[in-house]
Amino acid sequence: PTDIFPKEIGVATTFSFELYPPRSAAAADALEVSLAHLVASGPEFISVTYGAGGTTTDRSLRVLQQLRAGGVDAMAHLTCVGSSYAEASAMIHEFLDAGITKFLALRGDPPAGAKEGEDFLGDLGSAGELVQLIHRIRAEKAQFVQPPLAGFPRGTRLAPQPKVTIAVAAFPNGHPRSRSVSQDLDTLLAKEAAGANLAITQLFFDPEDYLRFVDQARAAGITMRILPGIMPVLSAERLHRIVQLTGEKLPTELLRKLEAAGSPEAQFEVGVDHASSLSRALLNGGASGLHLYTFNQHPAVLRILRETGLYVPVKEYA
Ligand code: FAD
Repeated sequence: PTDIFPKEIGVATTFSFELYPPRSAAAADALEVSLAHLVASGPEFISVTYGAGGTTTDRSLRVLQQLRAGGVDAMAHLTCVGSSYAEASAMIHEFLDAGITKFLALRGDPPAGAKEGEDFLGDLGSAGELVQLIHRIRAEKAQFVQPPLAGFPRGTRLAPQPKVTIAVAAFPNGHPRSRSVSQDLDTLLAKEAAGANLAITQLFFDPEDYLRFVDQARAAGITMRILPGIMPVLSAERLHRIVQLTGEKLPTELLRKLEAAGSPEAQFEVGVDHASSLSRALLNGGASGLHLYTFNQHPAVLRILRETGLYVPVKEYA
């Protein structure tokens, strides 16, 4: 079995999206249009990225609030690289106070110019430590907001607290910094031990990368759900950039097809086809859902959902 979560307990296959906070007023307007389409498709949640070093806090929070107002479960990415303990704690307080109960806890990439291994981390050395800090601050806040009642010990909880989801990143083809598959598995195991209850993977191009990784994770004792991250690659230029950023191996066949396609429209079709067949293979292999990187645009990801049968829009979208 691969991602045994849905098959064994009968959870429906789901899908979710990733957005980034818009960088200009025009981009914010364009996002509103795409958001309407994405929200209408009924995703399990929508996650919003976070600029390492806190560069996007306000903009990320604005999109998260927009999602919550639209009735969508909003997941906040948080990073801890370069932060002091006090800064990381203040960030967590701010997002919890905004009503966020879903997080993707990340270490974050080194600042520009710094290399892996240099002294750039700050007080929290890894995503696992951020997971623990979120849990601890949340527990402290839950006790603090309950007034002590006569006859009850201080901290008695009157109402059940909303369930918190703390997701973490997983790397089917290895994190660029890790030396071996077993280091990646150990890191993920440590994140689960710290309290993570969902993993979302880095993008990959071959379904076997994910299916093999999930088998290895289960064999290593990792039990949390592992959602595959799917990125539609809609141009050869984007493919080169992604490979450079992630350290993934260049998928030469996909590159050849994108280059042969020529026009942006034809490349769009190649990218959607590739991501759709990847998604179908993952679902057939037992994946419990798809986490789609949207680049803040709806047409490609909704097409992929239609091709995989996960969502058929009532109206044709633009
Ligand atoms: P960690 O889990 O802490 O691990 C990083 C690496 O260090 C791993 O190789 C691990 O094996 C190694 N390691 C960890 N602890 C130790 C140790 N004690 N000793 C030796 N090695 C160790 N970045 C952003 O800035 N903003 C985002 O919004 C964002 N979203 C992302 C979403 C997804 C789904 C993914 C997959 C990545 C995202 N990233 C984002 C990128 C991420 O921040 C980087 O990949 C970062 O380099 C690693 O983060 P991590 O949470 O995996 O770190």
